[in-house]
Amino acid sequence: MNAQQIHRVSHEIKRRKLDVLRVVDLTPRMRRITLGGPELAGFVTLGTDDHIKLLFAQNAEEQAALDSVVPGAPGEGPRPAMRDYTPRRFDPASNELDIDFVLHGDGPAATWAAQAAPGQQLHVAGPRGSMIVPDMFDSYLLIGDETALPAIARRVEGLPANRAALVVVEIEDSAEQQTFDCKAQVDVIWVVRGEQDLVDVVRKLEMPEGELYAWVATEAALSRKVRRVLLQEFGLSEALVKASGYWRIDESDEG
Ligand SMILES: Cc1cc2nc3c(=O)[nH]c(=O)nc-3n(C[C@H](O)[C@H](O)[C@H](O)COP(=O)(O)OP(=O)(O)OC[C@H]3O[C@@H](n4cnc5c(N)ncnc54)[C@H](O)[C@@H]3O)c2cc1C
Repeated sequence: MNAQQIHRVSHEIKRRKLDVLRVVDLTPRMRRITLGGPELAGFVTLGTDDHIKLLFAQNAEEQAALDSVVPGAPGEGPRPAMRDYTPRRFDPASNELDIDFVLHGDGPAATWAAQAAPGQQLHVAGPRGSMIVPDMFDSYLLIGDETALPAIARRVEGLPANRAALVVVEIEDSAEQQTFDCKAQVDVIWVVRGEQDLVDVVRKLEMPEGELYAWVATEAALSRKVRRVLLQEFGLSEALVKASGYWRIDESDEG
């Protein structure tokens, strides 16, 4: 059991006002926004499933509070809407940070991403910490939906050639499939929402061999169901299954 080697590293929380440099649509529902600017210097992201908070002012008072923040300070005044996103790529050499947004249609983050254009600014905070899962497992089972694709891509792209990963991703339709640039042997199963049930697909999986680390991130209730299948039906150890809710149906004011 290697679970004790999984550990958390804390970071000093910083608020940053970043510039939108580029906006590219990866698929019809996934938009990559590249951020930069002087305040990005010193950004750190160590864990493949790190998250940062994106801040979205919903009125003039919140915007004024955001704009008055001293770079790096925690910030005071009315709290704007905050949403969690994965740093998909940070390149200190070019000083660029990519964030991939699911354009799901509603909410401060998706609405902002849908209209984002170079020259605009975005306030971000964090990451507060990183969960380090050292590459010590034989294989990885990564289950998610579109919101999990940035973290899944970071994980599989970082694996060496002698590792195996089984990736199961629920997507809106086949146009949402992405390709991963990886050395490891990675098998990907795309599950089209409404055509197949993610939990049924997981139930029928043939688990990769060797010591396995499982990671799950989908809509919260669905993640709980998938976790239950992994623990109860496949007998995976609780310590080696990390399951998170990445969003919630109908709880639009929670970040
Ligand atoms: C650790 C972590 C990392 C994450 N990383 C990413 C990431 O890299 N990219 C990314 O796109 N998302 C990511 N998410 C998910 C993202 O934070 C949520 O989808 C968030 O709710 C989006 O905020 P919003 O303002 O657009 O919508 P909200 O105001 O939160 O919600 C508005 C409405 O939209 C619905 N909704 C929210 N998200 C979705 C969705 N994905 N599909 C369909 N309906 C939805 C809600 O149920 C609600 O009805 C991550 C979440 C966590 C916890």
